[in-house]
This record gives sequence, C-alpha cells and structure tokens, in this order.
Amino acid sequence: MSLPDGVVRREFDGEDRLATRGTPVYGEPTDGEWRLWDARRSKLGAMLELGMDTGLAGGDSVLYLGAASGTTVSHVADFAGPTYAVEFASRPARDLLDAAADRERLFPLVKDARKPETYAHVVESGLDAVVQDVATSGQARVSTLNRRFLAEDGRLVAAYKARSEDVTADPDDVFDDVLAELEAEFEILETERLDPFHDDHLGVVATPK
Ligand code: SAM
Repeated sequence: MSLPDGVVRREFDGEDRLATRGTPVYGEPTDGEWRLWDARRSKLGAMLELGMDTGLAGGDSVLYLGAASGTTVSHVADFAGPTYAVEFASRPARDLLDAAADRERLFPLVKDARKPETYAHVVESGLDAVVQDVATSGQARVSTLNRRFLAEDGRLVAAYKARSEDVTADPDDVFDDVLAELEAEFEILETERLDPFHDDHLGVVATPK
C-alpha cells in the first residue's frame, strides 16, 4: 500500500497504526510529534488502512466535504497542502475552527456542499483531490457538483453511507445507484466496502471523465 508522504505507520500500544505529525484534535494518543490516525473514527483513515490506492500525496491541494469537527480533515491538513474544509452545521464547525487555529494550511468554510457556487470564489480550481464524507442523502450529487474544482487528473476520494440514502434498502443496491450516478461524470478507479471499520459504507476513488 502506498501512503501519502507525511502519513506513517507507527507503533501505539504494541499495534501498528497510521499517524500524522501535528497537534492533537480529538484526544487521540500521541508519540512525540506524531498522533494516531484512528481508522475507526475516519473513513479516509479506513480507506488507507484497507490499502486503497487513494492517489493522495504529500502537499496535495484538497477540498474536504463534510469536515464535521475536524477529526479527519486535521490529519489531511497535517500532510497535504492547502486544505479547504466545508461543513454546514455550525456546532461542529466551532471545533473545526479550533482545529484550524494552529494549522496554517487548513481553511474552514461554513458552507453547504450542495452549493459549490457559494465557495467557488475562495476555493481554487485544478485541485489534486476532493475528499468527501457528508453522510447525507444525495451523496453522489454532492460529488458531481464539486467535480468542477478538480484537475483533469485529480481524484475524488469519497465514502458513501448506504443508510443516509435509504435506511431500508440493501446497501449493495444503494451503492449500485451511487456508482451509476457517479459514472456520468467520473471514471471509477477503485471501490471497497469499509467494513469492519465502518459498516455499510463504500469507499470510492474516481477521476473526472
Ligand atoms: N468527515 C468527518 C470526519 O471524519 O472527521 C465526519 C463527517 S460526518 C460523518 C458528516 C458531516 O457532513 C456532518 O458533520 C454533517 O453536518 C456534514 N454535512 C452533511 N451534509 C452536508 C452538506 N450538504 N454540506 C456540508 N456539510 C454537510
């Protein structure tokens, strides 16, 4: 598996775990400058832990959709370049602002990811990656709406939660629909279920068509 530069494997409590270098954000264990990146609390962490080829690299420019209180996006900003973090709920966004306070490459945006025109004046286009974890209905549409920010060879690295689309449907059917909608705009490079870290989530890596 290739990890982005700036993401390492390190021993915590006798176990080999992912880590990035930065100040702690969510009470995670630290070892010197390194802090554990907990794949059970992070879909992107789970994708890396499962060996998915995300295409992410150290110094990448990133748009992160669904930043919540900053758990995962803070790790991204530890290894990436400019990292724009979109979150529309004001309560988690307050913690996100705290996480950004000592991360000069992390730019929080309290915006709705379904309205990219409201942040298009701030977020540069030609980005290396859009990372998405919004866990809301219409997840594939959020991806296609934000495709405009990606470079031609950029990557969409997204986690889709089946129950956010339909609590009663078979997750496989939900994921088929999500992939069909994505395929209109993206070439799908890799998919993987994120079990056992996150039940009924599909990790997807794609690039614009
Ligand atoms: N990615 C986060 C992490 O790993 O630290 C967890 C994200 S949580 C599963 C999903 C988040 O997406 C919630 O904080 C929710 O408020 C946010 N969200 C849902 N729909 C959104 C939208 N349309 N625009 C912006 N944020 C949205």
